[in-house]
Amino acid sequence: MSTTEQRVAVVTGAARGIGAATAVRLAAEGHAVAVIDLDEAACKDTVERITSAGGRAVAVGADVSDEAQVQAAVARIVEELGAPTILVNNAGVLRDNLLFKMSVTDWDTVLGVHLRGSFLMTKAVQKHMVDAGFGRVVNLSSSSALGNRGQANYSAAKAGLQGFTKTLALELGKFGITANAVAPGFIATEMTKATADRVGMGFDDYKAAAATQIPVQRVGEPEDIANAIAFFTGEAAGFVSGQVLYVAGGPLD
Ligand code: NAP
Repeated sequence: MSTTEQRVAVVTGAARGIGAATAVRLAAEGHAVAVIDLDEAACKDTVERITSAGGRAVAVGADVSDEAQVQAAVARIVEELGAPTILVNNAGVLRDNLLFKMSVTDWDTVLGVHLRGSFLMTKAVQKHMVDAGFGRVVNLSSSSALGNRGQANYSAAKAGLQGFTKTLALELGKFGITANAVAPGFIATEMTKATADRVGMGFDDYKAAAATQIPVQRVGEPEDIANAIAFFTGEAAGFVSGQVLYVAGGPLD
């Protein structure tokens, strides 16, 4: 157990991938964790990993892009775990296509989950942070925020999250709340596996090819991102706010 004070943390999209690793890591820091994902049953594994290690966690099914579901989810978390003061906006989807082939629905879906979802979740949780005089918000951006072919929707959402993060830092700093963004490069998850499937490559070959382009010569693992998030959510990071940390095995422009 670390020296961190126990708090209630909320991690969205935590049934698997980066969100699951983050939920487990924040529980290991001593926090109670609300594990949110679209399908409550899909959160079971993450919750069991936490509770079997002696931690506290609850599975919450909610679509973060739906205002009523977000409000109901946060109300349930307050009731079952207590007032949340750590929020990790991690839920995400891809709907890649070149601009001329991208449907309006695919644009709206991606902007809806990443941007609207982070807005709704943060708006619902921030009042508990203000009441506590303490809060930590971490938003998942991406190296794609710098531009990525086939990802007009996703790169716009991830760049938008950087502006959102900085504005949260400016507005909420006086209440003891920090907001930062972690921008992963290539991380081995279902999301990157789906991209490998889409381009017709085996996942191992796809990862090996990606690793040759990364200075540390490997792709990232979900725990690499969870480690960065653990720093930003910690008590000791109270003077770090409005920052974007690229966690990509090397520098990005
Ligand atoms: P992942 O394995 O696809 O996990 C994302 C999770 O979010 C899934 O469990 C998904 O549920 C859930 N989700 C999707 N839409 C949701 C919604 N509306 N409400 C609640 N939950 C929802 O993705 P990941 O690779 O761990 O990525 C996590 C975050 O990191 C995302 O924001 C992603 O954009 C970002 N990121 C990832 C990488 C990478 O290389 N993997 C790089 C940069 C940034 P379903 O399975 O039911 O859809």
